[in-house]
Amino acid sequence: MINGKTRTCGLIGCPVEHTKSPLIHNTVAQRMGVDLAYVPFHVKEGDLEAAIKGAKALNLLGLNVTVPYKSDVIPFLKEIDPLAAQIGAVNTLVAVDGGYKGFNTDMPGLYRAMMEDGVTIEGEQILILGAGGVARAVALLVASKRAKEITILNRTVEKAQAICSEVKGFYPEVEIKALALGEYASLSANSYLAIQATNIGMHPNIDEAVIEDASFYEKVHTGYDLVFNPAQTKFMKLVKAAGGRAFNGLKMLLYQGIIAYEYWTEKQVPAEVIEEVSGLLEE
Ligand code: NAP
Repeated sequence: MINGKTRTCGLIGCPVEHTKSPLIHNTVAQRMGVDLAYVPFHVKEGDLEAAIKGAKALNLLGLNVTVPYKSDVIPFLKEIDPLAAQIGAVNTLVAVDGGYKGFNTDMPGLYRAMMEDGVTIEGEQILILGAGGVARAVALLVASKRAKEITILNRTVEKAQAICSEVKGFYPEVEIKALALGEYASLSANSYLAIQATNIGMHPNIDEAVIEDASFYEKVHTGYDLVFNPAQTKFMKLVKAAGGRAFNGLKMLLYQGIIAYEYWTEKQVPAEVIEEVSGLLEE
């Protein structure tokens, strides 16, 4: 029950109406007996700086940040965590003296989800489909976890090339290259972990996949789709039809939230609470 001592966290973005984050945070807080309420805040274009200042003035404990503000928010932070600075995107703000410190919990969340799903990065040949903000962060993650070779496939090949150069700047020893999306037939290996980081296949366009050709999926032993709505994406169906394992982005969503919650409350979320929230997200 909200009372005089309740602390507030929330989500800023545009839009925010589709978010599952209140379900994650309010359930965890309730189960752990923590006096915290989590609410969505629709912040219109041009209002971001005022929103951050207002949040601090209202003594909000923390915020999540979603599209389109994950990079735009950085100039308005008091401090930034080194991982978030490297990725260039912040999805979690934690109140500090005089403002907020920015973190990225999306990539640690994805890593934790992959570990739990038994998906290995080290020594793997990895395909990243897409070259947007999330794909860039994924490329840094898999480079930092010692993938054997990384190939980024994107419709706009220049964006994939730019990510390769940036990743090389941080990890000079990494094998990384860019290909245009249509060039998948030239892939030399035949056993890839493919991470799907475009927005293709998201509800309502559930009958679309970034690559439709079934023969591509014969080269994929594991497909990890960062899309989570629908739960079984077309990409996942194609991976499975070719005999591979496939996962969606729901666990990544769950763990980015759990890690943010742990920053805000400095309390570790027990496994049984995580399991309960996971079940609620799947409903
Ligand atoms: P973004 O920066 O807008 O990038 C979108 C990517 O999709 C680009 O590579 C773009 O290619 C590609 N694309 C879009 N339409 C396409 C089309 N018709 N044909 C071919 N390629 C197309 O998006 P983002 O922020 O990186 O997010 C990507 C996805 O990650 C989101 O859709 C979301 O579902 C997922 N995500 C999941 C979580 C989670 O917790 N599970 C968290 C964050 C994001 P071009 O470069 O050629 O335009």
